[in-house]
Amino acid sequence: MSRPSQARLDLAALRHNVALAAELAPNAKVMAVVKANAYGHGAVTMARELEPRVDAMAVACLEEALELRESGIHAPILLLEGVFEPAELEVAARENLWVTVDNAVQLDWLERARLAKPLQCWLKIDTGMHRLGVEPARAQAYFERIAGCSNSVGKPVVSTHFSSADETERDTTQRQLALFEQVTAPLAALRSAANSPGLLAWPASHYDWVRPGYMLWGNSPFGSALQANAARLRPVMTLCSAVISVREVATGDSVGYGESWTASRPSRIATVTVGYGDGYPRTAGNGTPVLVNGRRAPLAGRVSMDMITVDVTDLEAVKVGDPVVLWGEGLPVADVAEPAGTIGYELLTRMPQRCPRVVVSA
Ligand SMILES: *Cc1c(COP(=O)(O)O)cnc(C)c1O
Repeated sequence: MSRPSQARLDLAALRHNVALAAELAPNAKVMAVVKANAYGHGAVTMARELEPRVDAMAVACLEEALELRESGIHAPILLLEGVFEPAELEVAARENLWVTVDNAVQLDWLERARLAKPLQCWLKIDTGMHRLGVEPARAQAYFERIAGCSNSVGKPVVSTHFSSADETERDTTQRQLALFEQVTAPLAALRSAANSPGLLAWPASHYDWVRPGYMLWGNSPFGSALQANAARLRPVMTLCSAVISVREVATGDSVGYGESWTASRPSRIATVTVGYGDGYPRTAGNGTPVLVNGRRAPLAGRVSMDMITVDVTDLEAVKVGDPVVLWGEGLPVADVAEPAGTIGYELLTRMPQRCPRVVVSA
């Protein structure tokens, strides 16, 4: 018997989610963002399933792209931050990687390189995120220099990134889109703006390429806020474990490190073998929901490295070996992330090596 905590991966759910992305943006090509080990799901496993269903993939750096190439992924792969030094351009040319150009230094490297093959470039415009991208007023000049550069295949795809597309009540995304329209109108270029929340909630952002990441893993980028398209997603990862001990505690007894939870009535506590060493957030406080035998019960006491304790007083006959779900099927990761003071993106992406990834639905 091995330790029951594992991340089960549902590839049928992944196929469902990527089909939904394509259905919602029927006139756009789909670039699957598989950076950070496919947000903790395992980049190679996910990319193999995605490759026949998408037009390209994207990662954060050359190392992530090379891992996919070494695993036999042939789709074009965009380096979302571009290259970090000029030598990476040669590797990009050899490996059919696409590169983002988002500042004067990267443009300079591109113009000075002597590449065996020209590259497909993406020019990133800063429409308000103020993290990467060129100033809107200089976009045309960059565009023309890249289009005319012998190391570029021709016109770059022009892209931007949203700061707040997950907040549908705010007008930030509309303002970014208006600026993007204004800047790109004279360029006659292919365009790309939508991340997952853009794809799901902002049809005007779809353009020629959509760039979904998080939604592919079946979780809503809107957190626990209701959004009709996001409600159709199916979680790919279910973090599972099992009860390994059950005990009665008296009123006034405390549970776990620091005695942070104290029984206000005679209570039954189930100990589950999963902890922050397995990716469950230590900042999840008393009351965070846990599914025991498919029913919600509140976390009681501090999260340890290898274990958590759950108040199962209101559940029937919980016993050693009973199945537990920490997030995924039946319990959206946002419901755990929010009380832990973070977002589902972080919980999934931080999943440690220790936790086995097991494909359960091929
Ligand atoms: C990570 C990233 C995406 C994907 O964002 P999601 O919200 O996960 O869909 C898209 N574009 C860029 C530039 C990114 O860095």
